[in-house]
Amino acid sequence: MRSIRRAVPFAALLLIAFGPARPQSHIKHHATRTASELKPFRLPFTSPAGPATWYLAQPYGNTVGAYFQRHDTYRYGQGIHFGVDFAAPCGTEIVAIGDGVVSEVDKLSHGALPHNLLIDHPNGYTSFYGHLLRRAQLYPGQRVTAGQVVALSGDPDETCHSRPHLHLEIRDHSHTRATNPVTLIDADWNALTLAGPSARGFERDLDDPRRWQFLDDQPDIVFSGRLLNDYDYPWPPEWGR
Ligand SMILES: [Zn+2]
Repeated sequence: MRSIRRAVPFAALLLIAFGPARPQSHIKHHATRTASELKPFRLPFTSPAGPATWYLAQPYGNTVGAYFQRHDTYRYGQGIHFGVDFAAPCGTEIVAIGDGVVSEVDKLSHGALPHNLLIDHPNGYTSFYGHLLRRAQLYPGQRVTAGQVVALSGDPDETCHSRPHLHLEIRDHSHTRATNPVTLIDADWNALTLAGPSARGFERDLDDPRRWQFLDDQPDIVFSGRLLNDYDYPWPPEWGR
């Protein structure tokens, strides 16, 4: 026993003691590369999430709230909440989620009043910032860079105390389709769900109860397409029915 112990080189002992260093670093490197390749955008804030700054209020997708309003507010988005809502005090600085060119300022037909801003990105996506406090001090054609302050967050009710939040969408340039920002913004989304009321969750189709139940598993929508979630057996059931 003693001779075997003496024969084991010191470096090998270190390797045993400190475990699988290579696999860990490999995984980390792989995850970083995948994130930058598949998630080209950043969060629209410079401050970290928190109760005094901003938090995830309603995710993109088949949320209970969108389901209940699928015939009116969210009919245009196939019954899906087609953006992410970040609760934030009025006046919170909003930054561009990627390099791009301003395409529209206060195009009110796009919704998310009282003020909105759209930025076209070279990768084919358009970011849409809604419910802004005031008209963005930018003009169509102006170049912006990722992280540049482009707007201030507001409140759709224009009170700044009822439901101040940023509604952020990612569309294609033709405004035909919207995509789940969770799949395109590089952020710790698991941690972001730990604060705020987003745990209210997603509407279930009891005929297919596992579909669209996770933050990163939600359908793209085509604007003005048919409802995706007009369920025969929904859960939770609709109030008053
Ligand atoms: Zn929204």
